[in-house]
Amino acid sequence: LDAAIDAGDIWIAYQPQFDLKDDRICGAEALVRWQHPTRGAISPEAFILPAEAHNRIKRLTFYVLEQATRASRFILDERPDFRLGVNISAGLFELPELPAEIAKVLSKVDFPAANLTLEVTESASFGQHQMVAVNLSAIEAMGIQLSIDDYGTGNATLEYMRSVPCQEVKIDRRFIVGLVKNQNDMLLVESTIELAHGMHRRVIAEGIEDPETLELLRSIGCDIAQGYYLAKPMRIEAMESLLEAVTRIKAA
Ligand code: C2E
Ligand code: MG
Ligand code: MG
Repeated sequence: LDAAIDAGDIWIAYQPQFDLKDDRICGAEALVRWQHPTRGAISPEAFILPAEAHNRIKRLTFYVLEQATRASRFILDERPDFRLGVNISAGLFELPELPAEIAKVLSKVDFPAANLTLEVTESASFGQHQMVAVNLSAIEAMGIQLSIDDYGTGNATLEYMRSVPCQEVKIDRRFIVGLVKNQNDMLLVESTIELAHGMHRRVIAEGIEDPETLELLRSIGCDIAQGYYLAKPMRIEAMESLLEAVTRIKAA
């Protein structure tokens, strides 16, 4: 992985996020991609966990953070409220230097903290480490927003809802996939939206693959939508064209 970063085989795809209240692109999630010279594309599912287990996740995370903020900085000139989502493993919150190093990257690329959302992925859970709470509040104080990724799975449950000072809850795809047909999933998602809204948090649904699911989510008050039906992860150039096209259509 380190060699892949050095060789330039790691790149970042961006998946647009849509605001369901005013029907427009409000942000994008940065998703790491590894194009191996002989093995082809390697899925993040295959290398994030080992990277976490072998202490290689910090360098990767900071590489993604710097590339993604630098590449998408230009969008803010036209859309000052655009939000960039970057995934961050919960385990990294144990590092005392985390907030300062994030601040260093943001100032280096001149990316406002307020436009960054850190999506806390829970493949490794928050430990009981005393640094975690300190870092979470330091990051909040910097104006960076936090999102609980994959909400409803693994460790990302009520305990996170209670203890993580977040502005966003991202409902995992597994609850979204069968939403139209499965009454229980519908109840779970609806009550999660109600709970999150009660705590003044916005809700984003991921993995929306058809228009029925999108409209259902809109009807139960979901704030933001992400999924293949709306847009697949794409290169930054493609996202630039998409944003330009949308602006042109709106102006016409
Ligand atoms: P995630 O953060 O939950 O990201 C969403 C995943 O769902 C992405 O998979 C995305 O391509 C996929 N997805 C989006 N829309 C749809 C849809 O409509 N249907 C289906 N079936 N899938 C959809 P991806 O890119 O393979 O990433 C997988 C996971 O790897 C991410 O899940 C995240 O936990 C982790 N990851 C990705 N990039 C990074 C990174 O830079 N740092 C860290 N720490 N983890 C990352
Ligand atoms: Mg994510
Ligand atoms: Mg997720």
